[in-house]
Amino acid sequence: MTDNEKDVIILGGGLVGSLLAIYLAQEKFQVTVFEKRPDPRKEDLEAGRSINLALSRRGIKALRDVGLEEIVKPELIPMTGRIMHDKNGKTNYQPYGKKGQYINSVSRNGLNTVLVKEAIKIGVDFIFEHVCDRVDSRKNEVSVRKVGESESTRHTASLVIGADGAFSAMRRSFQFIPRFDFRQSYLNHGYTEMSIPPKNGDFAMDPNGLHIWPRGNFMFIALPNPDKSFTCTLFYPYEGELSFESLKDDKDILKFFADYFPDIIPLIPNLVDEFRLNPIAHLVTINSFPWAFNRCMLIGDASHAIVPFYGQGMNSGFEDCYLFMRLAKDLNYDWDEILPRFSSERKKDADAISRLALKNFIEMRDKVADKAFLKRKKVEAAIHELFPNLWVPQYSMVTFSDHSYSDADYIGKLQDQVMNENKMLWEDRDPTPSDLAYLAEKFNDLMITSLRDHL
Ligand code: FAD
Repeated sequence: MTDNEKDVIILGGGLVGSLLAIYLAQEKFQVTVFEKRPDPRKEDLEAGRSINLALSRRGIKALRDVGLEEIVKPELIPMTGRIMHDKNGKTNYQPYGKKGQYINSVSRNGLNTVLVKEAIKIGVDFIFEHVCDRVDSRKNEVSVRKVGESESTRHTASLVIGADGAFSAMRRSFQFIPRFDFRQSYLNHGYTEMSIPPKNGDFAMDPNGLHIWPRGNFMFIALPNPDKSFTCTLFYPYEGELSFESLKDDKDILKFFADYFPDIIPLIPNLVDEFRLNPIAHLVTINSFPWAFNRCMLIGDASHAIVPFYGQGMNSGFEDCYLFMRLAKDLNYDWDEILPRFSSERKKDADAISRLALKNFIEMRDKVADKAFLKRKKVEAAIHELFPNLWVPQYSMVTFSDHSYSDADYIGKLQDQVMNENKMLWEDRDPTPSDLAYLAEKFNDLMITSLRDHL
């Protein structure tokens, strides 16, 4: 590769775009990022609401890879498990994994600002308030204009990355290319964000858990922030008897909270105003393929946006960056080989986490309050304790391991099969150690059979 080929354009300086910019700048690429929004370093973040995300192993691995783990660490609040709230306000704690395993609540704005600052420090050129309307992949060319203006300028680069999120302009341009597959589907649920302020200068609830109020077809969740507030999200159907549409006036809103979330009412002063503060946002899944044409490639949400119920959207996007850069180094930055290969190798994992995220919606809003489900989780944890290398629960594989998402999806199905076929050992009684060993052995047999079938 000549020096002339070291220029890269990234569309979107969100979480994934700015992390990839850091990766490439560390390898001495000249990176320009066009970002629609204003410079986050100049934004009054205190004035805005703090939206937080769960950061777990895959995301941390990528941050560590670019040397940012220690910088981000002080901003993280560990959440060791789910704290379930029933209708009577009683809570129940369910650990996410083994002792010492946890996910982390982190501010989206805060993390994005750290990434942008770091990228700029090492020479990335961020052009804020510039929006891309079109990408011509035959020429590796982007058309960009300043927000609010109509005249655009064209820019080319040896590598053009579309990290411009779920409604990507690059992906929109790909849709005119024959044989580009694209699928977009919305949930019948939307979401709105609210906030629980600190109480007497401290957290109003236990900060070391992800709080969930599961109510069957809908749920309310809360994640802690470093300023001792919680960011809450209500996931609720758009239409129907119990829906956003049915909450017409203040009385309806108060009655809804009194009926389903009575313990939240004292935690949120001006509950009705708080409820109305934010628009109802939608939940979309995007599948696309291939992710690359010529030297233009989609990454992160632009290629595979998922619903947020496994807490893996950002984590998978960060893992995209990690794997992409590994491949790039292995193949000596030969983009013509790397782009199609990354796209076809990563696709199955993007599809797997997309399925798992949808499945986890049902688990979070419904099953986490179900006795049989909880029993199964306990039994699986006990098998894992006895056979840590053989049986890793699916949640742990996704959240705390480096197993690929597609392996986690597949192995989880084998675990389902073993647990479903042997319910008599664990559903209505406590399994003995030899029952647990039997379940593990059955799983081992299934793994061997499926391996043999694949040879
Ligand atoms: P984005 O963060 O959307 O960034 C895209 C950037 O591109 C933005 O800055 C945007 O301004 C810019 N842009 C867009 N269009 C253009 C254009 N045409 N020209 C120039 N710039 C453009 N993930 C987790 O891992 N854990 C969680 O707990 C979690 N919780 C979530 C909760 C909710 C309610 C939602 C909606 C998502 C959640 N996610 C979570 C998912 C996570 O937010 C996304 O996966 C992640 O932000 C994707 O990063 P990205 O950089 O690909 O896209």
